[in-house]
Amino acid sequence: MSTEDQKEKLKQYFAKRVTTQARIVLDNWQKLKEADWSDIERLHELQLAIMKLEKYAERFEMKGYHHVTSKLTALLTPFTAQKETPLQIPETVRVDIDNAIDELSQCTQRRTDHPTGATPRTFLRTPVYLALISEDNAQRITRQLEFFGFRALHFKSPEELIHATRLDKPETIVIDVSFGGNKHQGIETIQQIQANHETPIPIIFTSDDLDDIETRLIASRCGGEEYFYRAVDPGQLIERVEQYTHASPLDPYRVLVVDDSRAQAKYVENVLNKAGMIPHVITDPMQILIALDDFQPEIIIMDMYMPGCTGMELARVIRQQDRYHSVPIIYLSAEDDVNKQLHAMSLGGDDFLTKPINPRHLTATIHNRGRRARSLLALMIRDSLTGLYNHTHTLYLLETEITKARQKGHSMAFAMLDIDYFKKINDSYGHPIGDRVLKSLAMFLKQRLRKTDHIGRYGGEEFAIVLPNITETDAKNILNEIRERFSQLSQPAGDVEFHVTFSCGVALLSDESAQELCEKADKALYEAKHGGRNQVKIFRNAP
Ligand code: GH3
Ligand code: MG
Ligand code: MG
Repeated sequence: MSTEDQKEKLKQYFAKRVTTQARIVLDNWQKLKEADWSDIERLHELQLAIMKLEKYAERFEMKGYHHVTSKLTALLTPFTAQKETPLQIPETVRVDIDNAIDELSQCTQRRTDHPTGATPRTFLRTPVYLALISEDNAQRITRQLEFFGFRALHFKSPEELIHATRLDKPETIVIDVSFGGNKHQGIETIQQIQANHETPIPIIFTSDDLDDIETRLIASRCGGEEYFYRAVDPGQLIERVEQYTHASPLDPYRVLVVDDSRAQAKYVENVLNKAGMIPHVITDPMQILIALDDFQPEIIIMDMYMPGCTGMELARVIRQQDRYHSVPIIYLSAEDDVNKQLHAMSLGGDDFLTKPINPRHLTATIHNRGRRARSLLALMIRDSLTGLYNHTHTLYLLETEITKARQKGHSMAFAMLDIDYFKKINDSYGHPIGDRVLKSLAMFLKQRLRKTDHIGRYGGEEFAIVLPNITETDAKNILNEIRERFSQLSQPAGDVEFHVTFSCGVALLSDESAQELCEKADKALYEAKHGGRNQVKIFRNAP
């Protein structure tokens, strides 16, 4: 990857951190308002969130954010020092704060969303709406969702819910079948709500009765994705909500184009760019090995005839590498001799497109091939219970990142996590609940870590994380925060709830092998266990 690409990636990553933090500020501000501006603790939380955002904005040189956060800090500081309760913020200051928040909210809007200056006050992450008869239940679920970064709002009546969905379309609605009092009032309410939207909102129904098939059918027809009997299990619920919110378009396909004709390559590159894919062109087939390593393509498009070697020969070389054994190869050629095409396919090509290429045909072929390749790859490299990378692939990623870190002179950390007393959890609550705990930790890690971190299930209840480009302090802080937050998460098992902790060992890369780095992390993990569990330990060489 070129340094420009690297820079761009880094910038995007930072921008994401800043917008995430901005959203936390917006959420806290909303909570303060909900508490009628009188809750000093809420105010403190808001101020903390703002300080963090200000720090980020400064570090990443984001002027807009920095300007607003300074303003907010100046507005809030006089009140955060205030000792006596209730908190008193004069109306004029409240208006100033609201305006500043408005400005902040505009910073977080994607530019394309609102080309003009006047933007409504909206959050990027839409909320989850709850319409449950039991207030306790609703509160419990709200808290759990908040842990996972979702904003949940609870409604007390069908009218309130209908009104709210008119203003803001939620991510999903969790509703009791009999919400409102009558037997099917919840379903009827949803029917009414769905009629107002072009695309249906995914609905999760809950019911105290084992309802008949007719009821379930009606529920399913009005967008019911899920039908839970009895109280919703927050773990399961969050898993579903995650699914709906991540139903975002796929990551773009990474396509390597090998063609000695610059014009032809450029043409294909344009088509792919327009289709939202990531093309990488090489015109010298001898560069193929470097390109594979650097670009890590998911699909390869290759000219049949090139100077120095043919596409078929090149395909054979590519296939000789384990890692590219199943990467789809699509040949492009003026060749319209079917026999030659068949021969090419028998040598490891997957598809054959004849020039001149129809752009629609090209992108459709790539989509089909890409989708299949991805699901095959997922089977090979992912753990089926948690969806995390499996042991083998985690080690592969560790090796790759070590090489990269050495090339670039970056620091890097490797962490090993092991759930505390997991055997007891299985013994007390059963294996399926144990599995659910594993999944919840996997999801928690995915949510809290950066996109560039690699998370693997190392073994039974052991996880491994590769953290590229990170300092010791940051690694320790991040993992400790995750540890603490995870321990607060209540794990439901039937009518009871329990809490789970994990221990973690971290090793920073120096000049050792991947194997040695693993051993160091493992040693630190051992120390964490023996130091009383529920802690993060950094590996230190014995003095
Ligand atoms: P420690 O705090 O020392 O780590 O204690 P522990 O009980 O967590 O550790 P131990 O290694 O003694 O037990 C791990 C248990 O994890 C044993 C095994 O039955 C269970 N386990 C391993 N894989 C799975 C799985 O996929 N699902 C479930 N439910 N349990 C699993
Ligand atoms: Mg354990
Ligand atoms: Mg263990």
